[in-house]
Amino acid sequence: MTFRASVLTLYPEMFPGPLGLSLAGRGLSEGAWSLEMVQIRDFALDKHRSVDDTPAGGGAGMVMRADVLARAVDHGSPAGDPRPRLLMSPRGKPLTQARVRELAAGPGAVILCGRFEGIDQRLIESRGFEEISVGDYILSGGEPAAIVLLDAIVRLLPGVMGNAQSGEEESFEHGLLEHPHYTRPQEFEGMPIPDVLTSGNHAKISAWRREQAERLTRERRPDLLSGRTQPVTK
Ligand code: SAH
Repeated sequence: MTFRASVLTLYPEMFPGPLGLSLAGRGLSEGAWSLEMVQIRDFALDKHRSVDDTPAGGGAGMVMRADVLARAVDHGSPAGDPRPRLLMSPRGKPLTQARVRELAAGPGAVILCGRFEGIDQRLIESRGFEEISVGDYILSGGEPAAIVLLDAIVRLLPGVMGNAQSGEEESFEHGLLEHPHYTRPQEFEGMPIPDVLTSGNHAKISAWRREQAERLTRERRPDLLSGRTQPVTK
């Protein structure tokens, strides 16, 4: 089963972008996943092909129209489409590795990229979009967020990442940040590789890595230890 991504955007030229290179790009050309682009402007209703209008109630900026977006969604994801509909949005639940894993195990995703001030609320409700955020900051559009989301998903798909094990030892997979890494040369600017890593004692190496992971997590992300960051579920 191929993971099918459909991305609805005003800037389809931004895709596949980085997703066309490296592991994700090879996966795309080898059919491990597929990408369909929907140009929202193609579904405009007037001869000026407008997709946005001024906000009801006043204020700065423009809002993407529900009627135009509904036509684009119904084209890209017709009724009965089993794929989750995701809206990239700073108001969404923060993306987690647990949610990425769930999505990667599913049939695909329909991803809507906002622009301007955002999207008419009625579209979000009528078409059942789940809002997903990539962090507590504001991007100028949903496209970079969609690329982040797809990158995280695609690397987990069967056949995309060479070494399946390296996916399981990453930061967040066990609720901890990852331990530090070292490689040759043995000494760099007066700093040696920690002795334990060259000792050949695998039990000691595992224990050291675990300790380091716990230390880093305590220092940098105590919220992960106290379980305050909940996995995003629907
Ligand atoms: N006025 C909105 C921000 C709009 S930014 C607000 O204050 O909440 C324009 C678009 O960029 C959004 O519709 C969304 O699709 C995307 N975007 C911006 N920041 C994002 C983030 N942190 N995560 C996911 N998408 C984001």
